[in-house]
Amino acid sequence: VRSGAQAGPASLYAELVRRNPGEAEFHQAALEVLETLAPVLDARPEFAEAKILERICEPERQIMFRVPWQDDAGTVHVNRGFRVEFNSALGPYKGGLRFHASVNLGIVKFLGFEQIFKNALTGLNIGGGKGGSDFDPHGRSDAEVMRFCQSFMTELHRHLGEHTDVPAGDIGVGGREIGYLFGQYRRITNRWEAGVLTGKGLSWGGSKARTEATGYGNVLFTQEMLKQRGEELDGQQVVVSGSGNVAVYTIEKAQALGANVVTASDSGGYIVDEKGIDLALLRQIKEVERGRISAYAERRGVSARYVPGGRVWDVACDVALPSATQNELDAEAARILVRNGVKAVSEGANMPTTPDAVALFKEAGVAFGPGKAANAGGVATSALEMRQNSARDTWSFERAEGELAAIMRGIHRTCYETAERFGRPGDYVAGANIAGFERVADAMLDQGLI
Ligand code: GLU
Repeated sequence: VRSGAQAGPASLYAELVRRNPGEAEFHQAALEVLETLAPVLDARPEFAEAKILERICEPERQIMFRVPWQDDAGTVHVNRGFRVEFNSALGPYKGGLRFHASVNLGIVKFLGFEQIFKNALTGLNIGGGKGGSDFDPHGRSDAEVMRFCQSFMTELHRHLGEHTDVPAGDIGVGGREIGYLFGQYRRITNRWEAGVLTGKGLSWGGSKARTEATGYGNVLFTQEMLKQRGEELDGQQVVVSGSGNVAVYTIEKAQALGANVVTASDSGGYIVDEKGIDLALLRQIKEVERGRISAYAERRGVSARYVPGGRVWDVACDVALPSATQNELDAEAARILVRNGVKAVSEGANMPTTPDAVALFKEAGVAFGPGKAANAGGVATSALEMRQNSARDTWSFERAEGELAAIMRGIHRTCYETAERFGRPGDYVAGANIAGFERVADAMLDQGLI
């Protein structure tokens, strides 16, 4: 049984690639987990016997659908919608919706797969799922985004429910989109079912601190990793990529804790500001005007410059917080960061660091926080939103943020201790994967062959 359990992950990976052709990001996310599970599979042969891994790698359900809509000029467009309901052993499927031109089944599956373990790590009762569309919201009017969201929900609603599947935001889906989606769900179902979506507006069932939660959570996780090494975030030079929801609240929290955050970026390039990012100006440009980040350097003056096409990893720092998108930090960038003396790297985005970059950080003794653990604050606060919704309650900001902070400290402790217990001290990747997997696997064993 032992050797069978050890041979399992490699042959399982080959089988997964064969059965899911062309889904490179899903293969990458699955391999990262499979590679770290040997110690727990050895210790718990019952998992291999019950084929828990084979079952976890196969989504419980995958939904793909047509999303037709009309732009303001009356032209008809056809996009593809997705919802991958990956695992519901711990609770209703939970995970965001991503609207971005790059979205395809492989991307949604990598995100849904990661979500299973991330959600398990929060210690709350939420299963894993993810969805989205290849719709590109850039340059679209409010009316166009509304019509798209209505068409998307017209199909998706039949698969959702507060006890079934509860989407939220991700790249390209924020408060505006959640509003349009909720409106259409309510209209079609004739149910005011607050718990069916999270990230809602604060006056109609949203949770305080949900918008801030992913970025805040990653900074809190980073601080825990630094504390473990006898350091503080205060006074550190921090590099952040991205300028969306995760990046903005990462910058806000890091600054509040005394760090000097010097970069932000979008798909066109990055800005570096020696005096520290002026968050109000960045938000005005990215959130209010929905403009390009290059405008920041033009308006900010001498302390800032814009580097078109460049990457923030070229800027020297103590801490790097990738907060844009998958595979944005590769081996070349990791080498530069290590050479510049980076102490901690923590993933605000989902899978932003390539596997060879992660290996380089590990080799150099850099504290590395994997997204499953480090960015779990967003979905954890979504679960707190669901809790408020089912109790018809509304918490203060302090209460929601306090619970978020406690959850992040708990996730850090779980990852750290699990890594130690399984002979991988300081390896947060192994700690997160093993702890997340074990919780889901135990639930699946309890619930029989389903
Ligand atoms: N999209 C976020 C994530 O990657 C949040 C999901 C949620 O709140 O359900 O975890």
